[in-house]
Amino acid sequence: MINYEFDKRRKPYKKINLCIAKHCFLNCPGCYNLFSNSKEISTDEVIRFVEYAKEKELEKVTLSGGDPLSRSDIETIVQKCIDLDLKVNIDTVGLTLLGAKYICGTKKSVPKFKNIELLKKINNLGIPLDGSNNEIVSTFRHYNKEGNLYKEIIKVLDFCEKNKIKICINTVLHKKNIDDITNIFNTIKKYKCVKSWQVFQFMPIGFYAKKNEDKYAVSIEEFDKVKKALENKRTRIEMNFKPAIERAYNYMLIDSNGRAYKVDLANNITEYGNIRDNKTWDNILDNIY
Ligand code: SF4
Repeated sequence: MINYEFDKRRKPYKKINLCIAKHCFLNCPGCYNLFSNSKEISTDEVIRFVEYAKEKELEKVTLSGGDPLSRSDIETIVQKCIDLDLKVNIDTVGLTLLGAKYICGTKKSVPKFKNIELLKKINNLGIPLDGSNNEIVSTFRHYNKEGNLYKEIIKVLDFCEKNKIKICINTVLHKKNIDDITNIFNTIKKYKCVKSWQVFQFMPIGFYAKKNEDKYAVSIEEFDKVKKALENKRTRIEMNFKPAIERAYNYMLIDSNGRAYKVDLANNITEYGNIRDNKTWDNILDNIY
């Protein structure tokens, strides 16, 4: 089953991306995020905004960052979103499901995430996989020098298979993995827990992705060629192909400082407010689409 995200026959969810974690366990040279030095938005500030947004017909939240599992209050935020009957996606590299991990560039360790029952209640857990071996994965995602990120992600998938946690695989299609896409498909199709696969055309947004644009960028023609090749595969996994041009300006992002913004492919940012300031909430929510 293959869809472009903005399939006109389907009404899109009214959704928001809460990129509320300012830390990550990786240090990727193609990262889209704008990591801020300011204090992370608090639990109460996130919850107050989400409660109001639900009243204004918000249907879905994606929690990301950085890595949302690096936040000590993530279980409280996820549970609140579930209680509000929102669809919840969590985009994480998943490493803390396996054990305690150090936050990249710090000596701070985050304990093992143990609340598996909570993860079973969410819509899906988004796990990144951008290659079928560590050499290819490492062209885009940087872990510590000794670590084998590919093997760790496979362990995360094994863990989710065993614990029946629904997974969406997120793959950024770029110059270094474009010839590996069928191998990635062959890797993930073995897992029943993998319900969907999102393939994103690399976007040069954010400081690092822009800086490394030449290294990763693929054209829309190359992206469409990959889509066509995968269309012929028979699979129960729902595939969603997300070209850069259709994503630009279509995501309302909330950063770890609470700022609400959209960004286009030239890295122009339009700000809509800050979830710390309730006077801007209507403007943020009115501009989600
Ligand atoms: S791309 Fe994702 S996993 Fe990599 S540093 Fe950025 S937030 Fe972390």
